[in-house]
Amino acid sequence: MGSGPVRLSDTLRAPSSMAEHPDYSTGGRGSDSHGARAQMPYLNREDKRQQLREWSEKYGHGRPEFAVQHILDLDTEFPDIEIFGPHCISAHCGPGWVRLLRPALEAINRASGRIHQIKQKFNGLRIYWEPSEDLRRDRFDWLSGGRIGTDPYVAHKLYVEAEKAVLLAEMESFSVCELCGSRLSSRTCKECSHES
Ligand SMILES: [Zn+2]
Repeated sequence: MGSGPVRLSDTLRAPSSMAEHPDYSTGGRGSDSHGARAQMPYLNREDKRQQLREWSEKYGHGRPEFAVQHILDLDTEFPDIEIFGPHCISAHCGPGWVRLLRPALEAINRASGRIHQIKQKFNGLRIYWEPSEDLRRDRFDWLSGGRIGTDPYVAHKLYVEAEKAVLLAEMESFSVCELCGSRLSSRTCKECSHES
């Protein structure tokens, strides 16, 4: 950066050490009843992968809704989108949704985005992500400029393709069994439902 004008967003850049701050990258910000932040240990990528394995073993007892290998495999396949990175709160859904998830993650990867959360909510798949820092800063500057015009996100082909892929996966999830991936009209097919 040279002698050009300082953009407003330059002054808001987070310190590079922020991702390493112990209270920032916890995979969830705890708070006590008074609203004070709880101290939680920083978990790196391998810690988070191990934490997911342990969750599966502790609570899953082999049940398919607690399967995690497919998530670990997606993280290995797409390391740059940081499924277990410091900005991701949690990442899990059943193995039946991997074929919906993969094209969305591919598109997020092409858009240089990263994952904030993957989960099941209200019976549907949810994929929360953010585009690259450059694009976010472009958008911040555009919003700060007070001009009416084309949103930089909408003008960015890879962003639009990723957002489209995410919405498609989320919409399709309502008609795909989260556990086995078969077509259905509710979250799990009769075969996979646990009504014991
Ligand atoms: Zn099923």
